[in-house]
Amino acid sequence: MHKIDIDLVEMTMDVMKYTIGRVSATKSKIGKPQKAEELKALVGETVTREGVGGEYAFKMWKKYLSKASVPVDHPRHLAFVPASPTRAAIMFDLVTSASSIHGAYWMEGAGGIFCENEAMSWIVSLTGLPEGAFGVFTSGGTAANLSAIVTAREHWREDDAFKGEKGLIITSIGAHSSIKAMAKVADVDVLLVDTEDVLHGNELKECIDSLTDHQRKSLFAVVATGGTTNAGIIDDLDGIAAICEKENLWFHIDAAYGGGALAADSVRHLFNGIERADSITIDPHKWMFSPYDCGAVIYKNPDLAKKAHSQEGSYLEIFKDEGSHGFNPTDYQIQLTRRVRGLPLWFSLATHGTDSYKEAVERGIELAQIAGKMITENSHVELVREPSLSCVLYRRIGWKPEDYTQWTYENHRKGFALVTPTKWKQGDTFETVSRFCFINPDTTEKDIKMILDSML
Ligand SMILES: *Cc1c(COP(=O)(O)O)cnc(C)c1O
Repeated sequence: MHKIDIDLVEMTMDVMKYTIGRVSATKSKIGKPQKAEELKALVGETVTREGVGGEYAFKMWKKYLSKASVPVDHPRHLAFVPASPTRAAIMFDLVTSASSIHGAYWMEGAGGIFCENEAMSWIVSLTGLPEGAFGVFTSGGTAANLSAIVTAREHWREDDAFKGEKGLIITSIGAHSSIKAMAKVADVDVLLVDTEDVLHGNELKECIDSLTDHQRKSLFAVVATGGTTNAGIIDDLDGIAAICEKENLWFHIDAAYGGGALAADSVRHLFNGIERADSITIDPHKWMFSPYDCGAVIYKNPDLAKKAHSQEGSYLEIFKDEGSHGFNPTDYQIQLTRRVRGLPLWFSLATHGTDSYKEAVERGIELAQIAGKMITENSHVELVREPSLSCVLYRRIGWKPEDYTQWTYENHRKGFALVTPTKWKQGDTFETVSRFCFINPDTTEKDIKMILDSML
C-alpha cells in the first residue's frame, strides 16, 4: 500500500495538475449539493475489498463529487462567512500534509511549530495585548472559544470559594451560535443580553446588577464579539473591559470573523479595548486567507491556559523533559495530536508580506461600502443598516421570506451565486433580509451588480 510504483508517480502528477488547475481557475461554477442516493448512483461502490483504483476514484471525484461541493472562495459566494485562501497557503497546505508533522510537542514538531509561532506573533501584535501574551492555532473558532472559556473557568475555580461551582457567562444575542455550543460542552450556563446591535458597557453593567446572588456568584466571564457574524458589529470593547476589570471577570473576545480587520487601518479604532482582553479568538480561515481548518486562541497570560489544558500521561512525560523543552501547542488548547495548521499561513505571510494582508482585508471592507452605495442607488433594494466591516444587510422591497429563499436556491441551482437570507432583530420582530459578507478580494463591482440585478 505504501510502496512507490509507477502508478503512484502518475497519480501524483494528476493530483498536482488538478490542484494547479483548481487554484488558478477564475471562472468556476458554484457547486450544488445532490442527495446521497443520487451521488451513490453516479459513482457506485468505491470502498471495496480490492479497491477501485486511484484513477477511477479520482475520476469520480472530478466528474461528480467535486461538483457537489461549493468552493467557498468563489467571488460570488457571499453567504455565511466565505473564505479565500491564498494560492501560496493552499500549496503549502499540501507541503504540510506531505511533511507528516505531529504538531503537539516541540520535540517532534519544532520546525513547523517555529513557523506557526512566527505567524502567531504577527497576529498577537495586531491585538496590542501586553508582552507575554501568546496563542496557538486551533481547528476553528468553536475550539478556540471552548479552550478560552475552559481556561477561564479553571482559573476561577482555583479559588476555594468557587470550587465545584458550575459557572455562568454573559454574552449578547449577537454572539455566534458556537458560544452556546461550547458552553454546553464546558457545562457552563449562558445569559444573553437582548441586543443584536453593539453591546455597551452600561448594558453589561445593568445585566450584572440584575443578577440574583447565586448568579452573581457563578458569573466568571463575559464574551464580547469583535465583528458579529451576522452584521459585522463590534461590541464596545473598552466599556466592557472596564466593567470586567471592576467586577473581576474574565474578558473573552470572539473575533473569529472580525479579527482579520485588526490589520485594516480604516477600522482598527473600532477594536479599541481589545488589548484589555484576557483571551481572544481569531479565525485565520475566515479573514486571514488560510485554508480550512485554522482558528486561533490567544491569551494574555498563556500560563493559565497551560494549567487548564496540559495533559498528563506516563507516555507523555518525555515531552516535558529538559531535552525537549520548547513551546508545546497542545498545552494551550483542547487537542493533543494536531496538524501544524498555522504552517500554510506562515508561508503565505512570508511570501506576500503583511502589507498585502492589510490591503486584501481593506478591499473586503471597501466592497461592503461599494455594495452599500449601489443598494442606496437602486430603487428595488434598501439598506437595513449601514455596512459594518465587510457585512451588508439589505432588503428587497416587497419580498416575503419565501421570496428570498427561492431566489437563493435559484442562484445556487444555476451555479451563479451563493447569497443567503438571514434574520435581523429589531425590538421584538425578526425580519428576513438579504446579506453579503465579503472576504474574497477578487469579487468585483460587476459581481455585486449582477447579484442585485437578479433581484429585479
Ligand atoms: C465562525 C465563527 C465562529 C465559529 O468558528 P468555527 O471556525 O466555524 O468553529 C465563532 N465565532 C464567530 C464570531 C464566528 O464568526
